[in-house]
Amino acid sequence: MTVTRDRQVPAVFYLSSGARNGTHCVWCGTGLDETAVTAGISHGYWGAHNRSITVLACPPCATTPGEAS
Ligand SMILES: [Zn+2]
Repeated sequence: MTVTRDRQVPAVFYLSSGARNGTHCVWCGTGLDETAVTAGISHGYWGAHNRSITVLACPPCATTPGEAS
């Protein structure tokens, strides 16, 4: 079984509105609470405007087995 490491954060264009708003996990779409962790930067450009945002993830998605922190 291959463990996915360094999971990529989707581009802004592929995020749900909840993920863009930071209220839902960027990967599985689960509603987030105070346990949410920073998933990384989702990159996106609107013309010349950099619309990249920091997105959040639920702890299960953010934790890759065998990977420290
Ligand atoms: Zn998740």
